[in-house]
Amino acid sequence: MKNNFNSINIFHILHFTFLLFLMFTLLIKAQQNELKGMTAGEVINLIKSHTGGSDAWNYNTVDNFKTGNPETIVTGIVTTFTPTMEVLAQAVQNNCNLIISHEPTFYNNTDEVKWLENDKVYKTKLDFINKHNIVIWRFHDHWHNTPGKPDGIMVGMMDTLKWKSYQSADEQTIFNLPEMTVKELALYLKKQLKIKALRVIGDPELKVSKIAFLPGAWGGTAHVKALEKEGVQLLLVGESNEWEGIAYIVDAIGQKRNQAMILLGHVTSEESGMNECAKWLKSFISDLPIKFIPAGEPFWQP
Ligand SMILES: [Zn+2]
Repeated sequence: MKNNFNSINIFHILHFTFLLFLMFTLLIKAQQNELKGMTAGEVINLIKSHTGGSDAWNYNTVDNFKTGNPETIVTGIVTTFTPTMEVLAQAVQNNCNLIISHEPTFYNNTDEVKWLENDKVYKTKLDFINKHNIVIWRFHDHWHNTPGKPDGIMVGMMDTLKWKSYQSADEQTIFNLPEMTVKELALYLKKQLKIKALRVIGDPELKVSKIAFLPGAWGGTAHVKALEKEGVQLLLVGESNEWEGIAYIVDAIGQKRNQAMILLGHVTSEESGMNECAKWLKSFISDLPIKFIPAGEPFWQP
């Protein structure tokens, strides 16, 4: 009887000691993690897990690291359209060292830098980035296009333009707006998107309702295809080549077809989408400061 009692006691003591040891180890580990913080690579892996996981990332995408070391401990995240010198300076001021940018850092789609090695603008920008240990990661393809998820750029733009209820159910680029003149629409866009240098092609008094909205730079073929669609009266774009889509709309107008085109500028046609990106990141990253810094429209008018 006595022996039995003793063995239970020893068992309990061992069990309790083990639990205490386990709790202590977990506590130390949690504290170490908290002190260590998340690395840029860990933040990006988290983003990948929220955009389709490894299956959706298994192709040659431009969404990858452009500068810095993925092992860098993140002090704060900035989302932006493109990391201009001003955006970089503001990121440093805000103590944020991970920049999530929609567009390239170094003036070409894949951020090739070999051709820029002796370029003074490139070198000055890179020096600034290196001096402040800034990690830049591009978020373009998957922010636009993740299966089962709406285009994040379009979500942000709809929010700013208040157009969600006009969007066609079958095609997210087609909108059936309340009828207004081209001039009225242009002025609305200018006001909502705070544009200084908006450009319009076509009759300002033409009444339009059905429009195609292709933010950014879809290219001439897509612009022509959008204008070919049944009933489309106006094509709204970020930017377009003057010898492609623009040449086409000029001809269409020359043939007395009642169509028009508005060019918002690439930045202004997409930038709200990176504000949306900051909001989206906050939905699953809670222990890091996350801030949207606009790159801003590069143009002005005299
Ligand atoms: Zn885009």
